[in-house]
Amino acid sequence: MTDTPLILWFRRDLRLADHPMLTAALANGRPLIPVFLLDPETEAIGAAAKWRLGLSLADFATRLEGVGSRLILRRGAAPEALARLIADTGATGVMWSRAYDPASIARDTAVKTALRAAGYGAESHPGFLLAEPWQVETGQGGPYRVYTPFWKALRQRDIAPLLPAPKQLPPPESWPTSDRLEDWQMGAAMRRGAAVCLPHQAVGEAAALTRLDDFLDQRLARYAEARDFPATPATSRLSENLTYGEIAPARIWHAAMHRLDAGDSGAGKFLSELGWRDFAWHLIYHFPALATENWREEWDGFPWRGDSADAERWRRGLTGEPFVDAAMREMYVTGTMHNRARMIAASYLTKHLMTDWRVGLAWFADCLTDWDPASNAMGWQWVAGSGPDAAPYFRIFNPATQAEKFDPNAVYRRRFIAELSRTPPADALSYFDAVPRAWALSPDSAYPKPLIALDKGRQRALDAYAARKA
Ligand code: FAD
Repeated sequence: MTDTPLILWFRRDLRLADHPMLTAALANGRPLIPVFLLDPETEAIGAAAKWRLGLSLADFATRLEGVGSRLILRRGAAPEALARLIADTGATGVMWSRAYDPASIARDTAVKTALRAAGYGAESHPGFLLAEPWQVETGQGGPYRVYTPFWKALRQRDIAPLLPAPKQLPPPESWPTSDRLEDWQMGAAMRRGAAVCLPHQAVGEAAALTRLDDFLDQRLARYAEARDFPATPATSRLSENLTYGEIAPARIWHAAMHRLDAGDSGAGKFLSELGWRDFAWHLIYHFPALATENWREEWDGFPWRGDSADAERWRRGLTGEPFVDAAMREMYVTGTMHNRARMIAASYLTKHLMTDWRVGLAWFADCLTDWDPASNAMGWQWVAGSGPDAAPYFRIFNPATQAEKFDPNAVYRRRFIAELSRTPPADALSYFDAVPRAWALSPDSAYPKPLIALDKGRQRALDAYAARKA
């Protein structure tokens, strides 16, 4: 039976190196059939993330061909699609790298149960995180709710060693049929945005490794001081690659640790930021409602506003608050948003516009190419004040003073808001090419007046907060 093939079900692990599942599969010495399924869970992801996933799949398929293999594409719910593939190939087992969001856990548990009940092998492996969510425990044996002790516990652990990329993957005697990636139309919902966003993406494993090297060589030393300034290219931008598993967090960890040991001043801060990603996954694994319900129940009675015309102006980058609008437009033009800008845009929506954080969460999920369900949920609840380890609600970012501090020369704001310049830069103009035509926007329009005076919006939020507590 040793020559029966194994199915390798790839999901958010689209790389060859540092891949525990792939290493384990190769050790079996059997023919391997890599597959990606466009299942309902994947169909449901946001427009930008789905488009970006399509780019990643194309790159990964080419990479697999380089090691004598292929990426088989199939559409349909995982249990049925895998059963069909097993019938087509005579495979006797399926292996995959774990995912930790509630929808994936439900799907994977059902798949594992069905496969095993039918007598097939079903094995899951780590690789998406620095540590499995259940491996980092408090002294009492439960999950962490606060970052600092979580981080202390995480950094004491031995992080998985690096693993070589295979030179060859043993192919099956014959390949099963595959869909064509073009037919999946992964970019259909991105429409005009795709062409604008494309130059800002660094797609695939090779690009991710180059990005890491460039960051370590050119930016790590100044990371701690410069990371909050959105006009400065100071951060790694690896979130996009981590999301699709084009690079292993363990690879980033070991590379940064090496720099830390060599005395590189920015490495400690960078590692602790990387730790936030694991913390987000730790939280959503242990508290699956993180993306849907207020973490702190006392927020359930807060008079959040639902979706509204104001929220629509926020979505369009037309609030009249330049730092907020620059942030939103950065997202349409590049597919991502600087971390400080995310905090300011989210704070403005949840505090000055008193809008339910879930309205913002859903919009980011639709527009970010680095969308990550755990970090997005943690980020929104943190800013809104409803989350674990959250910023207190009364700490309200003032976008104007934040702009003075973190964008003192207005470079970031001018880069993305055409209406602020006589000769707008290319990125500012690209925004008008990226957004839906139906918005009928033009760079020649006057920049809008603020939706609400900042002090008035702040006071309205504080009054609502005080009334809730009374
Ligand atoms: P770097 O500064 O280079 O950091 C290195 C890595 O550490 C990042 O790639 C990321 O994996 C991790 N990291 C850094 N900061 C955080 C953080 N605050 N939370 C979690 N992980 C972090 N991040 C996403 O990857 N996807 C999201 O959908 C997402 N949504 C967010 C929504 C809101 C409202 C907020 C406030 C933050 C969100 N973040 C999200 C976290 C953070 O903004 C991004 O991870 C970061 O901007 C990515 O840029 P970078 O790769 O250059 O980060």
